[in-house]
Amino acid sequence: MNGETRAERMRQPIALDVAKAAAEKYGVCVRPFTMEVEDRASYEVRYVAVPCGSTVESVCAPCAKKAKALRMAQCREGWHMTEEPDFTARQPSQDEKGLMTFRADLVKAYRDAVEAGEAGDADELREEIHSVDAELRQLGVRGRFPSPDAPGKRPVKRSTKRRQDAPNLPRRRVEKRTVGREYAGGFRPSMFVTLTLDTYGRVRDDGPPVDPDGYDYRRAARDAVHFASLVDRWWQNLRRVVGWDVQYFATVEPQKRAPPHLHAAVRGSIPHETIRLVTAATYHQVWWPNHDERVYGGDHLPVWDARAEVFVDPDTR
Ligand SMILES: [Zn+2]
Repeated sequence: MNGETRAERMRQPIALDVAKAAAEKYGVCVRPFTMEVEDRASYEVRYVAVPCGSTVESVCAPCAKKAKALRMAQCREGWHMTEEPDFTARQPSQDEKGLMTFRADLVKAYRDAVEAGEAGDADELREEIHSVDAELRQLGVRGRFPSPDAPGKRPVKRSTKRRQDAPNLPRRRVEKRTVGREYAGGFRPSMFVTLTLDTYGRVRDDGPPVDPDGYDYRRAARDAVHFASLVDRWWQNLRRVVGWDVQYFATVEPQKRAPPHLHAAVRGSIPHETIRLVTAATYHQVWWPNHDERVYGGDHLPVWDARAEVFVDPDTR
């Protein structure tokens, strides 16, 4: 008998809480993803922890703090810049060009070896390619090197059907420019934009609906679920209409009536009429099944189709 009472045991911290508190104390991610990484040469599998990168403090305080600090630094250094930052890549050196050509030859030889079924040669060539990649990295070459295996890319199917009730927007090519217009006297004004969702019925001053039975909860819930995509669309549309790469800092907050809304500080000034036009024309198209009638339940459940990577009807597939 260890003489511990139940109350004492209950007071002991749960292992997960201890781990979380320790992670917060040392400023590392509290819920990292584990990624399985296979070494292509040795087929050895390693597990690598990747920070979650959340910007929400209640989800992961260390990651959110890091993200906030980064945004603050970006804002301080970038907001008042009057020239575009220079991101032109330096010219590749002779060594780099030579290695790249060598790599291309190796890839060709590797593919020939695979084609001919010469597994031993292929393995050796693959290893050689990896060591060339390592050398290129060491020289400071950025970006992803093309895989020696020609990947079978799956085409992404997209619906191009437009909503007919949304106004058409003028389209301009988006220039690689982030600095807004300069006005007489050298001013480059910025602006503040708040985007709110539509009404779902009248609400009381403290938030809840005046008429709970008449309030469109269903629409409110759906709008909240898709708010992030809708906002992405809005920025995309705005950039296409104004023709330059508008930059902003924004935060999403719940209104007193609950739906999310967006506050954004926008670098550069855009006519109010343009903001209104873009807002009126922005929508995010999603497909929802009817969800007022139960279709699956009990033993009659959708089944996973591994090849199509979707759930399908158990009878009709
Ligand atoms: Zn995290």
